[in-house]
Amino acid sequence: MAKADKGYFYIDQTCIGCGACEHACPGKVDAIARVEDDYLGRFIIAEQDCINCGVCIPLCPVLCIHDARAHGLVEGSGGYRAIADLQAWAAAR
Ligand code: SF4
Ligand code: SF4
Repeated sequence: MAKADKGYFYIDQTCIGCGACEHACPGKVDAIARVEDDYLGRFIIAEQDCINCGVCIPLCPVLCIHDARAHGLVEGSGGYRAIADLQAWAAAR
């Protein structure tokens, strides 16, 4: 997958620190980390490392990972193609 100039995904303040997204983020990408000294143990996405794959999105139990394009915060069409493509592939089998 081609690397964009930066990632479009972000975690909002309602993160409960479960760590599911960190496990999901591809190993060599490793764009998600726990916020240092955060009393709730929340996580953050390093936008310069995120490859916009969208794998973390459906795993968040509190739906606090968002696509900034889908929310109109930055320009772009929104959505996370990697998951959509994977679902289409799985549905066709
Ligand atoms: S969209 Fe992909 S690369 Fe970006 S933080 Fe989520 S799992 Fe990691
Ligand atoms: S999956 Fe969601 S709640 Fe869990 S650490 Fe990641 S952003 Fe926070």
